[in-house]
Amino acid sequence: MLAKRVIRLIEDIVGAENVTSAASDMLCYSYDATQQKFLPDVVIFPENAEQISLIMKMANVENIPVFPRGAGSGFSGGSLPIKGGVVLVTSRMDRILKIDEENLVATVQPGVVTEQFQQAVEKVGLFYPPDPASLKFSTLGGNAAECAGGPRCVKYGVTKDYIIGLEVVTPQGDIIKTGGATMKGVVGYDLTKLMVGCEGTLGIITKLTIKLLPLPEAKKTMLVMFDSIDGAARAVSAIIRGKIIPTTLEFMDSATIECVRKATDLELPEQAQAVLIIEVDGDSDMIEKQAKRILEIIQPLGVVATQIATTPEESEDIWKVRRSVSASLRNVNPDKFNEDICVPRSRVPDMIRKVNAIAEKYQIPIVNFGHAGDGNIHVNIMIDKNVTGQSEKAEHAIEEVFAGALELGGTMSGEHGVGNTKAPYIPMELDPAAVAYMKTIKQALDPKNVLNPGKILLENAPKGLE
Ligand SMILES: Cc1cc2nc3c(=O)[nH]c(=O)nc-3n(C[C@H](O)[C@H](O)[C@H](O)COP(=O)(O)OP(=O)(O)OC[C@H]3O[C@@H](n4cnc5c(N)ncnc54)[C@H](O)[C@@H]3O)c2cc1C
Repeated sequence: MLAKRVIRLIEDIVGAENVTSAASDMLCYSYDATQQKFLPDVVIFPENAEQISLIMKMANVENIPVFPRGAGSGFSGGSLPIKGGVVLVTSRMDRILKIDEENLVATVQPGVVTEQFQQAVEKVGLFYPPDPASLKFSTLGGNAAECAGGPRCVKYGVTKDYIIGLEVVTPQGDIIKTGGATMKGVVGYDLTKLMVGCEGTLGIITKLTIKLLPLPEAKKTMLVMFDSIDGAARAVSAIIRGKIIPTTLEFMDSATIECVRKATDLELPEQAQAVLIIEVDGDSDMIEKQAKRILEIIQPLGVVATQIATTPEESEDIWKVRRSVSASLRNVNPDKFNEDICVPRSRVPDMIRKVNAIAEKYQIPIVNFGHAGDGNIHVNIMIDKNVTGQSEKAEHAIEEVFAGALELGGTMSGEHGVGNTKAPYIPMELDPAAVAYMKTIKQALDPKNVLNPGKILLENAPKGLE
């Protein structure tokens, strides 16, 4: 509970109409896409970097934690006010400031919604590839803080490959600029890269400079169904081995397909045990050739049916299937733990086999889908917490999934970040010297630990379900 005096200080900075501590509002900002809930004391909606700077200065004096928040769609608890305090929402900072068509660069505020930005640049023939499945609501600030990925990242790379400059409010309230609008720049440490992916623990992003590409001339979307999960997993490796990098190479297993059947009108044949959504883009001749070659490569691996979109609407229908997955999975079991391990692409079949063995061992449904083209698999452990023993089984299963990914040379998280949910598992992946290095950085920049405390680096945190 913040003192009235402190609330008044906050109101003086951002305006009383942009501050709320009403109980119903606190509830709205207490959760994200994990199943956790932490109530803030106050939620604020600043409109510029200067206000955020004053808020951070005040937070340091008063020792109040501040938690930056975009759309709150994170999958690892990054925006949650786990110690109460202030939730700082960027929804009023939602302007696209400039699209520079000569230099293929845009400048935006952090609260711009990802899809709205993509549509704005596409109108002038430009292209911003990172496309998290949450793009209809996630913000560019949240994408940068999490270094979001998405289906197209297999060919085009992730958010960090497009952010070339930032304006950031530091934990102590300074306003700094990192990088710039040039394609090259090596003066000083690369603070842009430090900020992108830091999950709002080292600074609050107030402006982003983003590199753009020319919009590809055409694309071709294919939904390919396989008679076995192993066939689909081997198809991913076979395509890459065939020296083709499609724009997307998305994967869904049979349990995911079942959920999609229930939640949508799309007809998927009964024999379909796994699906790949494969898209290629570029000039029209090239994509025809690539699509043909891909279909030849994967045909011997148990393809039972193929749908090829012939119009943008049909392509969008295929993508709707993929975007509906996350929400429709709850049909399997009410409690879903969505992990997003990433392994070297060639090890995807091995990882799927490991996950299936873990599901078998603990007798709990594990549903797999995701960005198989870059080895990033969303492993969803589906339980009913009300059934005795299931939570414990899920805890063991999660740890074994992480261990399995690490054994194959992979990582615990490809794109969802650490937040508070994966923080306890960090020692499984990072050596103590690397963790100490990171803690030194955090301590130096945020000595009072007021900016997004309790995320990424935790001391003696208990493992367990969020
Ligand atoms: C249905 C669904 C599908 C998803 N699909 C994908 C996917 O395909 N790929 C993917 O990568 N993720 C995916 N996500 C996860 C999530 O959408 C991404 O992590 C996204 O980048 C979060 O954006 P946000 O605006 O919601 O950020 P929030 O959830 O509000 O915040 C995320 C983190 O960013 C920090 N933050 C937010 N704004 C700022 C700022 N301006 N400055 C500093 N820090 C800030 C927060 O403190 C927090 O740590 C999905 C989520 C859902 C619910």
